[in-house]
Amino acid sequence: MQKLKDKVVAITGASSGIGEATALLLAQSGAKVVLGARRSDRLEALAKRIVDAGGDAAFAVTDVTQRSDLVRLVTLARDRFGQLDVLLSNAGIAPISRLDELRVDDWEAMIDVNLKGLLFGIAAALPVFRQQGFGHFVNVASTSGIVTTPTMAVYSATKMGVRAISEGLRQEAGPSLRVTIISPGFVQTGLANSMTNPEMKAQINNKMTEIAISPDAIARAIAFAIEQPPEVDVNEIIVRPTAQS
Ligand code: NDP
Repeated sequence: MQKLKDKVVAITGASSGIGEATALLLAQSGAKVVLGARRSDRLEALAKRIVDAGGDAAFAVTDVTQRSDLVRLVTLARDRFGQLDVLLSNAGIAPISRLDELRVDDWEAMIDVNLKGLLFGIAAALPVFRQQGFGHFVNVASTSGIVTTPTMAVYSATKMGVRAISEGLRQEAGPSLRVTIISPGFVQTGLANSMTNPEMKAQINNKMTEIAISPDAIARAIAFAIEQPPEVDVNEIIVRPTAQS
C-alpha cells in the first residue's frame, strides 16, 4: 500500500464535519493538508491543532462559489508544499425543502456550492494535475445522489450531478489521474446548520442523533482511496450507517 505520508491534499469544506475529520486523519498519517472554507477562525484553529501535533497544514479562506478562491487554494498547496496530490471537493450545503415552498434562493445556493463549487475546483486543479502527470480528485457526493426522496429533489440533483461529473472526468482523465466518488449516508456533522426550513432542520437533526455515524468513518474511506497505488483508482465508496434504510 502506498502510504499517505507527504501526500499534499487540498480540502474544501475543511472547517467542520467530514472535511475536518479527514484533515485530521490524513495529517496524523503524515499527509500535508491545505484547508479551505469560509470560516477563517475554524480553519486557523484546525491548522494550529495539526501543526501543534507535529503535522503540516496551511489554510486559505475559500468560498467555492468564487472560481478565483479555488485557484488560490491550489496555488497555496504548490507554493507551500511543492505539488498537489489530491483535491478533496467536500464543501456542500443542504437547505432541503419541498419544491412547493419555492425556496428558489436555496435551490440556487445548492447549485452554486455543490455543483459549481466542484467544477471550479476541477478547473483549478486539472491543468495542474496534467502538468504534474499525476493527481487525484476525490469528490463527496451523497446517498441522495443515488436515490431521491421528498424534500431532497434539488439537493439530490446536485449530488447526482457530482456523480455524473466525476464519472465523466474519470473517463476523460486517462491513465495518470484518478477520480473517486465518496457517497456518505447520514453522518453526524454541522450539515443541518445550512437548512433554512426550521422543521426540516429539526427533523434532520433528530435523525442524525438517532442513526448518524461519525465523520471519522468517511475520513477512513477517503484515506483508503488515497493510499492505493497510483494505478488503482477506487471509483466509488458508499458508506451508510447500518441503521439507514
Ligand atoms: P458540514 O456542514 O459540517 O460541513 C460543510 C463544509 O462545507 C463546512 O466546512 C463549510 O464551511 C463548507 N462550505 C459550505 N459552503 C461553502 C462555500 N460556499 N465555500 C466553501 N466551503 C463551504 O457538513 P458535512 O461535513 O456533512 O458536509 C460535507 C459534505 O458531505 C457535503 O458535500 C455534504 O453534502 C456531504 N454529505 C453529508 C452527509 C451528512 O449526513 N452529513 C451525507 C451525505 C453527504 P464554511 O461554512 O466555513 O464555509
